[in-house]
Amino acid sequence: MTQVVIVGAGPTGLTLAMLLAKRGIAVKLIEASRSFRRVFRGEALMPSGLEAIAQMGLWDLVERIPHRPLNAWEFYIENRPIFRVNEPMELGGKPCTLISQPAFLEEVGVKAKQCESFELIQGTAVQELLWQNERVSGVKLGDGRAIAADIVIGADGRNSIVRQRANLPLKQEYQSFDILWFTLPTSPQFASENVFYSLLCGRQGFGVFQGSQGNLQVGWSLPKNEPIEWQKLNWAEKLASASPDWLATHFRQQASIERPLLLSIVVGRCPHWQIPGLLLLGDAAHPMSPIRAQGINMALRDVVVAANYLVPLLQSQPNFATIDAVLPQIQAQREPEIIQIQQLQQAEVAQAEQLRNNALMRYGVSRLAPLIQSKIRQSWLDRQLQLRQGFTQVYLTV
Ligand SMILES: Cc1cc2nc3c(=O)[nH]c(=O)nc-3n(C[C@H](O)[C@H](O)[C@H](O)COP(=O)(O)OP(=O)(O)OC[C@H]3O[C@@H](n4cnc5c(N)ncnc54)[C@H](O)[C@@H]3O)c2cc1C
Repeated sequence: MTQVVIVGAGPTGLTLAMLLAKRGIAVKLIEASRSFRRVFRGEALMPSGLEAIAQMGLWDLVERIPHRPLNAWEFYIENRPIFRVNEPMELGGKPCTLISQPAFLEEVGVKAKQCESFELIQGTAVQELLWQNERVSGVKLGDGRAIAADIVIGADGRNSIVRQRANLPLKQEYQSFDILWFTLPTSPQFASENVFYSLLCGRQGFGVFQGSQGNLQVGWSLPKNEPIEWQKLNWAEKLASASPDWLATHFRQQASIERPLLLSIVVGRCPHWQIPGLLLLGDAAHPMSPIRAQGINMALRDVVVAANYLVPLLQSQPNFATIDAVLPQIQAQREPEIIQIQQLQQAEVAQAEQLRNNALMRYGVSRLAPLIQSKIRQSWLDRQLQLRQGFTQVYLTV
């Protein structure tokens, strides 16, 4: 039987392993961490990712785990409301939904473990690739074990060791900011509806929403070219000073705000996602910006396309040449959408930067909001269609 080894049990690796194992393909999934709990895991899913989950037959599972749809998006500049868009948007599809990623991974893992052809090796990292006749033939783990494979799939995220060991360079795009992430008790404001607030006040920008578990999540944009000693700041006051009154009161009511988590942003693409015997998918091939929550969605859509190619191939007892011939086709089908989505994300960042760097523009937009609101709203909405639904149709056919 053809043996697949997948490195990394994030959204990419675990869902692909489950789909392949359910179809009788032998899969070993190797995950460095002992559990699916993480200090931080993104959890916003767009209709494109939700649709991929449904096609994978995992929608029932989502209903059972902590999840929370968004009711609306609201934008504030200089503490004045600019515009609001309700979910689900008039663009169609399901509402953007926050799904607990550890719970999701845990449950997908349970499904995969029901398959005889599936094995999870957890708590030990892949350190090296094994090679035979200039083709990848397996992986070597931190504990010294060697695992043979007919095909290795690198799904080990943005700092992928598999990518580095395969000498597949990542073309990185400069990102002007990192993110400071806070988790706080929720505010009564979120009791009746979960709004994703984007706030820009002076040169300070951040997002606030209620996460899948009911806590308030705050992502503060930290410009790379304006270093501050963020560890020493009084964050309750800092957040309050850039917030409308109701939110400022909530921040000030917190006895203390724990030191945030610094999440460094890596965005880029590998020109080549594959070499003989090896394929990269998800963030390992194309680390995504957190802007408009695309990474998990793109990862799940990679998985659907990869499964469409790999399942019939691997069920047919292929030789190495046949396997290697299919891998570039997966990249060819996914790459155009990834390029376009990354460009759209960059355009969203550029627009926010323009406002951040131009006090006059901020003042004008905030004062004229009642007059120009519907135009700005429409222009934002026009840019959201592909960020919600993707650029191409992706259907699971196996
Ligand atoms: C601040 C921030 C917020 C984000 N928010 C969102 C969001 O709300 N919605 C969204 O869609 N996207 C979001 N993203 C992007 C999203 O997190 C990623 O695009 C997505 O997690 C990619 O999934 P993946 O499975 O490819 O990689 P990962 O989720 O990174 O999973 C990789 C897995 O591989 C394991 N691993 C790593 N190295 C090894 C090794 N050597 N051996 C074995 N295992 C290994 C890791 O432990 C991990 O479990 C955000 C990103 C950032 C930075």
